[in-house]
Amino acid sequence: MTLVVHKYGGTSVADADRIRSVAKRIVDSYNEGNGVVAVVSAMGRRTDELLGLAAEVSDRSHPREMDMLLTAGERVTMALVAMAIQDLGVAATSFTGSQAGILTTGKHGQAEIVEIRADRVREGLDEGKVVIVAGFQGVDPASKDVTTLGRGGSDATAVALAAALSADRCEIYTDVDGVFTADPRVVPAATKLLELTYEEMLELASAGAGVLMPRSVEFGRRFGIPIHVRSSFHGGEGTLVKEETMEQAVVRGIAHDESEAKLTISRVPDTPGVAASVFEPLAAAGVNVDMIVQNVSHDGSTDISFTVPISMLDVAEREARTVAEAIDAGSVSVDKDIAKVTVVGIGMKTESGIASRMFRILADHDINIQMISTSPIRISCVVAGDRVSEAVKALHSGLGLDDGASA
Ligand code: ASP
Ligand code: MG
Repeated sequence: MTLVVHKYGGTSVADADRIRSVAKRIVDSYNEGNGVVAVVSAMGRRTDELLGLAAEVSDRSHPREMDMLLTAGERVTMALVAMAIQDLGVAATSFTGSQAGILTTGKHGQAEIVEIRADRVREGLDEGKVVIVAGFQGVDPASKDVTTLGRGGSDATAVALAAALSADRCEIYTDVDGVFTADPRVVPAATKLLELTYEEMLELASAGAGVLMPRSVEFGRRFGIPIHVRSSFHGGEGTLVKEETMEQAVVRGIAHDESEAKLTISRVPDTPGVAASVFEPLAAAGVNVDMIVQNVSHDGSTDISFTVPISMLDVAEREARTVAEAIDAGSVSVDKDIAKVTVVGIGMKTESGIASRMFRILADHDINIQMISTSPIRISCVVAGDRVSEAVKALHSGLGLDDGASA
C-alpha cells in the first residue's frame, strides 16, 4: 500500500465548507487505495487570534500556558476534519501531537522534534482508518507538557511524520499553487517552479519565502522525503522539492525578507575577543543574529552592524547597549527600515559571476547595498526597506527569470 502524508494549512481549513472539501480530497486519495495521514493547521488566522487574546489577558510571558493555548487551535481542526471524513463514509480518527507520539525538546514555543513514536498512527492505518494529526505540536517526555514547534510548524510535523512512517510522499496543500521564482505579489512575472532541490528550498525558506517552514525542508533532506507543494483549491501540479533536479539552475529564485532590523555598534575596540563579547550576550538572550558586517577603521576601532528579527529588536537593542558600555564602544543605532533580498541557485556552485551581476543590477537602479552575505548557492544583500520591491523586480528580470528561464 502506498502511504501518503498530506498537510493542510490554515487557509485550506478556514471554514466549514473548506473543511468539507479537504475531507473530500483526503477521501479521494484513500479511495484510490492509499493509506492517508493528514496533518492539519489551526483554522484561518486562529493562531494569531489566540496570541492576541493572550496579550489582552496578560502582558507577561507564560511559555507553558501559551503552548497549551496555541495547541488548541490545531486540535479544533483535527476533530472537525475527522468528523467530515466519517460523514463521507470512511473511518477516521484524530490525534494530538502528543497522542501521535511526537516527542520534542522542552523549549516552549520553539520545541524541536527529537523522536516520533507513531504507534497509534500505525495502528489506525492498520485498521484501515484515515489518521488526522494536529500539526505544530508535540510533547516533552521529561515534563509531559505539550509544546509547539514555532510558527509554520505544521510543515515540520508533516515531513517528520512522513519520515517516521517511511511514507511514499509528503504533500503540502496550501493557498498558493507552489513555489515561485519570486513572490508573485511583488513580481507579477514570477513563474511557478516545477522542481527545486532541498538545498535551494532551504535557502529560499530561510531568506523569507513563506511557503515552507525551513525546518520541514531540513527533515525532507535528512530523510530523503520528497516534498510536494501544491494548491488545496485545485488539482494543479505544484512544485516538487527533492534531492536533485534535471536542470542545475544558476538562479532558481529570489526571496525577500522585511522582518529584520539592523543594529550598529560604533567605535568598537578592534581587539581579539570583542566580537565574542558582543555576540555572546545576544545568543544567551535567545536573539537569532542573521547578517554581520564589521568595518575596520584606521584608528584601532571598528563598527559592527548586524541584523536581527524585528520581533527580538527590543531585547537585542538592550543587550547591545549594555555591551557597548561594558567594552567602551560608541553609540548603538537602530534601523528598522531595511530589507534583505536573496538570490538562490544550485548552479552557483560551479558558475561564477552571479554576485557581480546582482550588484550591477542593483547599481543600475541606484539601490545602495548595505550588507552582503553569501553561501555556496546564495547571495543576500540588505537594502533600504522602501527599495526592496524594486530590487526584487529588477533582479528577477535582470537575471533572466521573467521569461521563466534562469540566468
Ligand atoms: N498554526 C500554526 C501557525 O500559524 C502552525 C502552522 O500553521 O503551521 O503558525
Ligand atoms: Mg505555513
